[in-house]
Amino acid sequence: MQIIFATNNQNKLKEVQAQLPDEIKLISLKDIGCYEDIPETQNTIEGNAIQKANYIKMKYNKDCFADDTGLEVMALNGAPGVHSARYAGPEKNSKKNIEKLLLSLDKTANRSAQFKTVIALHYKGELIQFEGICKGEITRTAKGSGGFGYDPIFKPTVKDKTFAELTLKEKNEIGHRGIAIAKLIAFFNKHN
Ligand code: IMP
Repeated sequence: MQIIFATNNQNKLKEVQAQLPDEIKLISLKDIGCYEDIPETQNTIEGNAIQKANYIKMKYNKDCFADDTGLEVMALNGAPGVHSARYAGPEKNSKKNIEKLLLSLDKTANRSAQFKTVIALHYKGELIQFEGICKGEITRTAKGSGGFGYDPIFKPTVKDKTFAELTLKEKNEIGHRGIAIAKLIAFFNKHN
């Protein structure tokens, strides 16, 4: 089967395709000629995932899924959360986001944090949601060169390395998006 993944993020496309079985082929927004920034103006992760999936469904009338992710830091009452991409400004610069977060936690002993992903799927007339959470902590310095976003400063509880020091396969096995995608795959297996 083929399904549209409503993202412009090539890293994510690669990460998700790597996890899917060969029978499920992702169609990118580029493949359907959609080059615009899909609106994500809601104030929750769930709301944004649904908004993005709805946008593509309405415009192209095709089944699709969209995801939205936030990094929730306990000592910051869940920030940056839904604002993770633009935490340090509208340019969505990962390096600046990391610097701002490390500075915000400079004097904070509680480094607990979690990544949360919500996937919203339009499939055969239904809208279904899947959630994935990965618990961990924010390190004091950036380490590793893999992944993207906050990966160099997020150490999942079950590993002694940051996400950026893990292979894609290792990250997918325990990561927030990987967990949500595993639920999506289980759904497809059951309904096909
Ligand atoms: P999005 O909703 O998936 O686009 O994620 C919003 C922001 O959260 C991204 O711009 C990244 O800064 C951050 N983010 C999302 N997923 C990850 C991840 O797997 N690792 C590190 N940062 C991430």
